[in-house]
Amino acid sequence: MSTGTDAASTSEATSPSAYRMLIGEDWVDAVSGETIEVITPVDRTRVIGTVPRARAQDADRAVAAARAAQPGWAALPFTERQRALLRIADDLEDVVEELAALTALDTGNAIRTQARPEAQLLVRAFRYFAGLAGEVKGVTLPVGADELSLTRRLPVGVVAGILPWNSPLMIAAFKVPAALVTGNAVVLKAAEDAPTTILELAAVCARHLPAGVLGVLTGYGPEVGQALVEHPGVDKVSFTGSTATGAGVAATAGERLAQVSLELGGKSPCIVFPDADTDDVVEQVLLATRFARQGQSCTSGSRLFLHEDIHDSFLEKLVAKVSQLRVGDPREESTDIGCIINQRQWDRVQSFIDEGLATEGVRVAYDGRERLTVGEPGFYHAPMILTQVDNGWRIAREEIFGPVLSVLRWREQDEVVAMANDSHYGLAAFVFARDVGMALGTAQRIESGWVQVNQGGAQQVGQSYGGMKGSGQGRELSLEGMLEGFTQIQQINARW
Ligand code: NDP
Repeated sequence: MSTGTDAASTSEATSPSAYRMLIGEDWVDAVSGETIEVITPVDRTRVIGTVPRARAQDADRAVAAARAAQPGWAALPFTERQRALLRIADDLEDVVEELAALTALDTGNAIRTQARPEAQLLVRAFRYFAGLAGEVKGVTLPVGADELSLTRRLPVGVVAGILPWNSPLMIAAFKVPAALVTGNAVVLKAAEDAPTTILELAAVCARHLPAGVLGVLTGYGPEVGQALVEHPGVDKVSFTGSTATGAGVAATAGERLAQVSLELGGKSPCIVFPDADTDDVVEQVLLATRFARQGQSCTSGSRLFLHEDIHDSFLEKLVAKVSQLRVGDPREESTDIGCIINQRQWDRVQSFIDEGLATEGVRVAYDGRERLTVGEPGFYHAPMILTQVDNGWRIAREEIFGPVLSVLRWREQDEVVAMANDSHYGLAAFVFARDVGMALGTAQRIESGWVQVNQGGAQQVGQSYGGMKGSGQGRELSLEGMLEGFTQIQQINARW
């Protein structure tokens, strides 16, 4: 892999890599020459690289390059864009292992359970959207023999993609191929905490795209991120991150009437019916907790609603499973759970744990700290399962973004649906019941953009993905998300 770095960038490199950003056809430093150190969460004392600290001037350059390149890219026959994406997918497939290793080092996501699947999903997403290239088409209306009424699907123009640190390649997979195949140019803002895999992704893409069609900026959100959101040359902002930052991004972009899509936080309910007290459901609920990503997932089923008839037996099985998970170095294949991204997030998770433990009435079903064999200099948190939780407590309302599960009891279907929906979030949900009618009936009553029934895994390429309520707006990863999110309709009426 190569991003124009001064040193080899590998997971085991001892000297830090000096990364540059991609603007036009060049790998460049920030105009100011300033850099930011990238520290691996595996070892808070180890700098794995430096990235440019981009500011408004750098955003100007990247947007100018994107604007210059976009019309030519959009004018290509769709089959050309398709070919480019397929070639990118092939090249990405060749470096999946390198991308996975770098993801583990950069984000702390465990290589077997998270980092490798994320890199593999990226390949699948490029292939999937390449296959949709010909779907960017309009319709004709039969208005008369000497008239024509037709629509064209046009690109939005220049898209700014603002990425978070929790799964950078996966979130890039949700945005980049869909935006590119529809004829847009893209400027990515990588998260300051995990930028390196995005630069490696760009290096692969750049081999197959005209210069400027994809650019990558690194730096701080309030500096270069804000500059992109404010930039009059950016037609659309596609943001993934926190609800608070997303609301600010939407307000700023809205002032100049730029389009926005937001994929924000969640506090997703996971409901288990009395007929679903099985080992298989326990496995799926475990997936839903996203413990294997340290709980740093917006789709984490972090509120577990257990029917009171099976509460104790299900919890016993779940605790037995969770106790087998190994928290450890994310680069090791035997590790199930890696480390938290940084000190600030580690402290934030700890404060929720402290608050939960101090709340009157709470019970601890599992406290993984007793088994934790790793720690400083890495940012490790062990899983924690708290029961007898009230839906009004902060640990049941706020996104913790750590491996902390709140367990609640329920008795009646209406009651659990009301509790599940009593949240300002509405991203994901999980319903487990052997009675499929009961499961589907419940699923349809949940106010979430994505409801899984009897399964708890990750997003599948091609599905509609996005949130309701405070979890965001717009959909990604699907045909409809691509058309709604990255194209606009032009109507042409003609007579002769
Ligand atoms: P943020 O929402 O602040 O960061 C997400 C991205 O937005 C980053 O690239 C960030 O840059 C950028 N950004 C920050 N401020 C601005 C701005 N003013 N204009 C444009 N871009 C900006 O998330 P945090 O990293 O602060 O994480 C805090 C919490 O957010 C987590 O605990 C979790 O609850 C939630 N979160 C949700 C995610 C999801 O997948 N929905 C992903 C990540 C976090 P920079 O990296 O430089 O700060």
